[in-house]
Amino acid sequence: MFDFDSTLVTIETLDTLIKRSLTGPDGGRKRRLIDGITLKAMNGEMDFNESITTRLRISEVRAEHFAAMASEIAEFITPGIEDVVDLLRRSDAALFIVSGGFDEIIAPVADRLGVPLENCFANRYIADADGNVTGLCDGPLTREGGKTEVVKAIRGKTDGPVVMLGDGMSDYRVFADGAADFFVGCGFSAVRPNVLASCGVKRDRSAFVRTTVELLELLHADWC
Ligand SMILES: [Mg+2]
Repeated sequence: MFDFDSTLVTIETLDTLIKRSLTGPDGGRKRRLIDGITLKAMNGEMDFNESITTRLRISEVRAEHFAAMASEIAEFITPGIEDVVDLLRRSDAALFIVSGGFDEIIAPVADRLGVPLENCFANRYIADADGNVTGLCDGPLTREGGKTEVVKAIRGKTDGPVVMLGDGMSDYRVFADGAADFFVGCGFSAVRPNVLASCGVKRDRSAFVRTTVELLELLHADWC
């Protein structure tokens, strides 16, 4: 089970979309407002869905920003991740992407990595008649703990141990909640101190890697 933002790709797609949309004279003020909301969400002072919806409303993200990012997202694939995916595929692992990001942006990367679209779980945005993006369609991944819910459902239909790989606490939580048997913290693009610290707690079932080369070594040693 792979996370997407800062794991399979080097960027946070929603943050990048928002920053790109704020080109008007009011951009600086809106960016500060949005940064404040991001911080509140990260500190657990604001609901995940509410924080995304509020950020989208303040921003000037439009449907065409999503389309533009979908057309260039393959350029942001984490260097070396294709080798990891190849190794897992040769080992007959079933590959899934579980993300709080967006279907439209994940699809081109899934296609490049050979992950079937039916194995990709993410969100869809809502746009008004003028193309302004105003929020998210309802779904488990719009909610706190949604990744755990999705991975539990996948787990019910597949055999073998489940390994969750990702950079964020929402990824670690899948493991902590018991939906994944193993966790690999991925600090390829961003090292989250709380994830790094959490990986030390259950050392036999979790690990932290900073490069895809380290991840390949870990997979060779333990799983492939
Ligand atoms: Mg991530």
